[in-house]
Amino acid sequence: MVSLRISIVAAALVALGSGCRGGASDASDAFAPEAFEIPSEVRALTPPMPAREGRGRVQHVVLFVADTLRADRVPPRALPRIHSPALAQHAKSAVVFDEAYSTSNWTKSAMASLLTGLEVHRHGALTHEHKLSESHLLLMEMLKAHGFYTAGVLTNGYLTKEYGFDRAWDRVVHAKDSGRARGHFVAEDVERVLAERPKDKPLFLYVHTTDAHSPYEPPARDVSRYDPDPYQGAVRFRGDKLFLERIRRGEIKMRRRDRQRLVALYDAEVTYHDRQFARVKRALAKEGILDDALFIFTSDHGEELFDHGSVAHGWRRLYQELVHVPLMISGPGYEPARRTEQASLLDVLPTVLDALGMSIDPTLVGRSLAGTLPSRRPLLFESYGIHGLLDGHKKLAIRTYPRPTAVQLFDLARDPFEHTNLAEEQPDEVARLTELLHRLRSDLHVASRITDVELEDSTRRQLRELGYID
Ligand SMILES: [Zn+2]
Repeated sequence: MVSLRISIVAAALVALGSGCRGGASDASDAFAPEAFEIPSEVRALTPPMPAREGRGRVQHVVLFVADTLRADRVPPRALPRIHSPALAQHAKSAVVFDEAYSTSNWTKSAMASLLTGLEVHRHGALTHEHKLSESHLLLMEMLKAHGFYTAGVLTNGYLTKEYGFDRAWDRVVHAKDSGRARGHFVAEDVERVLAERPKDKPLFLYVHTTDAHSPYEPPARDVSRYDPDPYQGAVRFRGDKLFLERIRRGEIKMRRRDRQRLVALYDAEVTYHDRQFARVKRALAKEGILDDALFIFTSDHGEELFDHGSVAHGWRRLYQELVHVPLMISGPGYEPARRTEQASLLDVLPTVLDALGMSIDPTLVGRSLAGTLPSRRPLLFESYGIHGLLDGHKKLAIRTYPRPTAVQLFDLARDPFEHTNLAEEQPDEVARLTELLHRLRSDLHVASRITDVELEDSTRRQLRELGYID
């Protein structure tokens, strides 16, 4: 009964959201906060819509998520071979968080966390079939309620209405509909969205690119930077969306030269993507948005590239190459700096609300990155069949599926690349962290569990493009 009520009132909320949409001509009052009033019964079931108490210098908000981009490929802490001049330049004007973490190892769980401020066990969008409950407010709903023009240029099929993400958009471009997922198309679409937006409204722009996501098919000029030698081996995607998956399963024999090629293709995608990032920034500057915008650059998770013998992401592993992500914040109030405290994607939503003078739900784990972060704050990770946490420099991962349960304990201070599993050697530490993990995960989640997701053909096609489904 309760869940039915939630879905009915959530539908009312969504209907109101779409009712607010309007062109530039009638934008003057259509975007006023009162036009997005939340019915009282929704207030009883969802966290309160943040109030806006003050207004600072931040006028606009830009969220740029580069899917699957490893932290060690992003300046200023990128591996020396990585050519990424636009992000290197960007980092000089930003607060760079050297130790930022995702909440998961794949898109849906991680982006649900970023956009709601909730850990995975609280938002519950854990598996391919889960739909994010509409009782969890998304960042764009909060900003739209405060008069922002909300625009998304999105290239991952999980960020869609079937999975509960398509809410409160004034304008959204899905690559699943346009077939324009490559970065240069994304940059073009951003240019168009910026040119056509109502200029008298504050803007929330969310750009989600997937160039670093498989299939790795970068331009030849970028490949030659990393692997100029002739190559005739097994590594060629050629439209095979499940190529990485077949490597992961051991169906493709990978020699040393093949592994080198695969990593070169990934790195070449990083360099290709850097040019598209530069183009998006130029478009924002041209529109006069950049100086007054809070700009967040991050990734939803990383990618395995044989660091621990496997490839891809989203499987039952929580190594650093999967959960350590780039995070940079720039804009009014953010003097360029390097910060070493552990930050989280959970901090993004409070950071945005704080910059706009909006109230922050005190039950959230995340904190505004404008302030000091707690010196010690356990950060949880969760994906289907595995969960874990980082407490200081100790990292615990418990794989619960398939049986038998497997436990890993790493000391990142001594062993940053996670070569030595200390679980057997330090049972007391495993017990302490396991107890802490279970205590922190004791909240109940309210995600809708749907066994037969009704996907649109275009969504199914794009998930296939990304290698998620057959
Ligand atoms: Zn992703």
